[in-house]
Amino acid sequence: ALPSADPTSTDPLTILREVFGYTAFRGHQAAIVRSVIEGQDALVLMPTGGGKSLCYQVPAIARHRAGLGVTIVVSPLIALMHDQVGALDEAGVPSAFLNSSLDSAGTQQVERDLLSGKLVLLYAAPERITHPRFLAMLESLHERQKLSLFAIDEAHCVSQWGHDFREEYLQLGVLTERFAGVPRMALTATADSHTQADILERLSLQQAERFVSSFDRPNIRYTIVEKDNARLQLLRFLRDEHEGDAGIVYCQSRKKVEETAEWLQDEGLSALPYHAGLDAHTRRRHQDRFLREDGLIMVATVAFGMGIDKPDVRFVAHLDLPKNIEGYYQETGRAGRDGEPANAWMSYGLADVVNQRRMIDESAAGEEFKRLQRSKLDALLAMSESLDCRRVRLLQYFGEERESGWRCNNCDNCLQPPARWDATEAARMALSCIYRCHQHSGFGFGSAHLIDVLRGASTEKTRQRGHEQLSTWGIGRAISETQWRGVIRQLIALGHVVAEGEYYTLGLADSARAVLRGEVKIELREPREPTPRGRGSRSS
Ligand code: ADP
Ligand code: ZN
Repeated sequence: ALPSADPTSTDPLTILREVFGYTAFRGHQAAIVRSVIEGQDALVLMPTGGGKSLCYQVPAIARHRAGLGVTIVVSPLIALMHDQVGALDEAGVPSAFLNSSLDSAGTQQVERDLLSGKLVLLYAAPERITHPRFLAMLESLHERQKLSLFAIDEAHCVSQWGHDFREEYLQLGVLTERFAGVPRMALTATADSHTQADILERLSLQQAERFVSSFDRPNIRYTIVEKDNARLQLLRFLRDEHEGDAGIVYCQSRKKVEETAEWLQDEGLSALPYHAGLDAHTRRRHQDRFLREDGLIMVATVAFGMGIDKPDVRFVAHLDLPKNIEGYYQETGRAGRDGEPANAWMSYGLADVVNQRRMIDESAAGEEFKRLQRSKLDALLAMSESLDCRRVRLLQYFGEERESGWRCNNCDNCLQPPARWDATEAARMALSCIYRCHQHSGFGFGSAHLIDVLRGASTEKTRQRGHEQLSTWGIGRAISETQWRGVIRQLIALGHVVAEGEYYTLGLADSARAVLRGEVKIELREPREPTPRGRGSRSS
């Protein structure tokens, strides 16, 4: 500590400077800290990297110095608890954690320190906190007025609407019932309006002051490309823009993680796999290397990243579509935490739309939950298909409106405005073709076959099925295969076409009628030059 340091000061700025060595609060931090020190409940929405930890650490210190006792931090992330307690130790703030990594002697020591009033902060997993034995200890502290504050981190875990629901979080309602008068704050980096409402209700925070920071991450450049050859597109992106940079490549399945990591290694890049199917030791080792070494690429499922604080991640690439905008935002948000320019790159295609829709349809969840998941997916699809500023769409989802016409100038659509193509007529052709093929054969067909019929590209299947006699045969010759894929993807994304069964056979949804009648305008981006795929000969 500095020679002039005052270890008894309860002034937030003094604490910030003398304990943490920072010069000033950022964004809403000062207001949050002031309000919590005064004993108000708070809901803190702040993007990843915004500095949520200080929002409870500074009040914890101030209130402990004022004789109010210990702050209990609820966190689901063991790694994060370790890091934070380590850092607080170094700053000379007595703190500890309780989780499954402690043996019984270690646990007893922490419990003694807790009851003696020595600890300023105690981190614990939610299932610990709601354990009767632990609640009894808290009650004894509460009786002596030595229970200062509850800080509930990752509070979106309490919501079933969120992407990261945890059963144990539901039990936290008990804190309100048993510890009246102890202020509570909930913190999260994810909260669409639905999740916010859930947090307020389940944690009884109706009286809480709400602090909602902007979710904009201006240094992240968003790019969404149409999937053509995803691997080569990724490689080009990595080679052109991120030689030697650290970054994360997200894939949907464990198998794809393994294959992609191996392939990148074969291409001479330093890539490591990470997914929940790897043993704990390997996961730990890969994560440590990613944090410590420079320029590693982590190829991972969504199992990787929560609580990872690596400031210089220069890119996050998605080879597959995430489930929804929160997922996309959280995952891309791991890039550029140091404020330096970073890229969020995603490739997205027809199969992504179909897969995500199917995963929802086939899940065991109830109808209401499925309906919500579908509408969340729709919002992400709309952003992916959007021809306008991506950031406007993204922020809109979190309730941040920009003036009409505002553009960020740091996304693909702002930097290279796509040429628009009126696909209304093409969409009608596609729908009639889906209808005709089905009517003629008595069952549906996949998109590749439909595109062949639309383009009049004779194949064994078009001959065998007699589809060359249909009125829709060859009506879409003038439109390229890439364009057709875009039309069909858009129709599925908009819900006018459904893709079913093992072969993704296409069928018309009820809403297709309005499109067929020409009542719905469909606009697509003009596709860029397609890479050769060696299929040209089929259409001759
Ligand atoms: P979050 O939990 O919101 O993702 P953290 O609390 O981990 O963010 O903070 C992110 C980084 O920003 C940390 O390295 C932290 O030390 C730093 N930080 C937070 N607030 C300040 C501040 N007021 N001044 C300087 N650095 C800060
Ligand atoms: Zn933009």
